[in-house]
Amino acid sequence: MTFSLSLSPAQLDLAERAHAFAEDVIRPVAAHYDSAQEFPWPVLEKAAEAGFYSPLFYRDLIGDPTGLSLPLFMEELFWGCAGIGLAIVMPALALSSIGQAATPEQMLRWAPECFGEPGNLKMAALAISEPEGGSDVRNLRTTARRDGDDWIIDGHKMWIGNGGIANVHVVNATVDPDLGHRGQALFIVPGDTEGLELVRKLDKLGCRASHTAELKFNGCRIPGDHLLGGDDKLEHRLQKARDAAEAVAGGAGRKSSTLGTFEQTRPMVAAQALGIARAALEYATEYANRREAFGGPIIDNQGIAFPLADIATQLDAARLLTWRASWMAATGAEFRNGEGSMSKLAASEIAVKATERAIQTLGGWGYISDHPVEKWFRDAKLYTIFEGTSEIQRMVIGRALGAADGAPPVHLDQEPEGSDLGRLLGRGSPARTRAGSLALSMKDRVPEPVMRLAMKALTPPNRR
Ligand SMILES: Cc1cc2nc3c(=O)[nH]c(=O)nc-3n(C[C@H](O)[C@H](O)[C@H](O)COP(=O)(O)OP(=O)(O)OC[C@H]3O[C@@H](n4cnc5c(N)ncnc54)[C@H](O)[C@@H]3O)c2cc1C
Repeated sequence: MTFSLSLSPAQLDLAERAHAFAEDVIRPVAAHYDSAQEFPWPVLEKAAEAGFYSPLFYRDLIGDPTGLSLPLFMEELFWGCAGIGLAIVMPALALSSIGQAATPEQMLRWAPECFGEPGNLKMAALAISEPEGGSDVRNLRTTARRDGDDWIIDGHKMWIGNGGIANVHVVNATVDPDLGHRGQALFIVPGDTEGLELVRKLDKLGCRASHTAELKFNGCRIPGDHLLGGDDKLEHRLQKARDAAEAVAGGAGRKSSTLGTFEQTRPMVAAQALGIARAALEYATEYANRREAFGGPIIDNQGIAFPLADIATQLDAARLLTWRASWMAATGAEFRNGEGSMSKLAASEIAVKATERAIQTLGGWGYISDHPVEKWFRDAKLYTIFEGTSEIQRMVIGRALGAADGAPPVHLDQEPEGSDLGRLLGRGSPARTRAGSLALSMKDRVPEPVMRLAMKALTPPNRR
């Protein structure tokens, strides 16, 4: 599927519906849920009624071969409020991890449990991070050990979205500590499992409508079939990890340049940051058009307009990176150059810049909660921290650069589309240029109508 910026009617409709939901349902209550730091249950119900809270909806978006549906939806929703947006899409983040690890039977069993249905909503959480290890996944200490047919999970998790209130917790735990992060596996821990303890709901700077918690797993016993992917797949993966470890110890190993599955989910989070950045840019621009100082609108000052111009430019650049990464995820392209990380890095950094600049543009009004920009600034900051900090994104891109060792960018690496004849006769080909030159050299010898026709062919299409 070719990368394209044109939207299908269904994609445009999706963006418009998501925007209307953000404007009519989310924005009017965003300040309340932010200051009360309360979970927005009524908004979730409305999202479910609108069709935005269901596994099939997200399956549909992820399955779009153009890759555009998911980032389009995320940007519009998070334009409304990132805290409420997170509350709505958190199960989709968990579902995406289930999708990458689970057998088809497990997917069918757990996907409905992540969302429920209107009137009987359910929730899901993805529990990876721990107090001692967020960025460094090798440092995760939660363990899973066999006990008969069951697994016993012990550990401590931190900053878990929907943690302790979710029906389904997708939990990362170590089954073989000798293998580092390769000795880890994903498990489903249902919310009512004995030993699952919600230690506390965390008091956050921003995205306060979403629920984030500290959790403990005190000898949580779960059935054997809650291991995602199943026993055989786990054993196969562990054996591969052992072989790789032995090869490295024997000096035969090579550093892998294959980037993790995180690369595929990063554009989804990047698009959320784009929504916050766009909200801030729009708000600041409208304000600067109306606010007068020294006898004119403040936007007439380059000191106000130029930073906003920079934000607009960087926002569009980040969106293009995000859509490219999402398109790559949809088409199964290899993220050899850290393209997913590039999108997350660019989008999260511009969200922080845009919201900070919006506060500056509003002056004193930007610093108080009469306007939403101070809230958006607090919300945006999360995006340079979770799903891999900005430093970790740079690390991934830097390592990819090292591994690529001067290899070309992704578009030069793709299989070209179209017939081989295009290589000979397509635009810019030597044969075409020679034919054009020949026609020009004969200009004095050909009749005028023929010449006019030839000139038409030479003129750029948008000037005809
Ligand atoms: C509101 C919120 C929601 C979250 N939701 C979830 C969730 O639902 N599920 C989940 O599993 N986790 C979640 N997280 C956790 C989040 O992913 C981690 O906080 C994040 O990965 C960073 O880990 P850390 O906090 O341990 O920081 P650390 O890893 O301790 O990093 C501290 C600082 O050191 C830097 N650093 C670390 N290593 C390097 C390096 N090698 N080079 C350069 N700099 C480095 C980091 O960039 C950072 O600036 C959430 C976090 C927050 C704040």
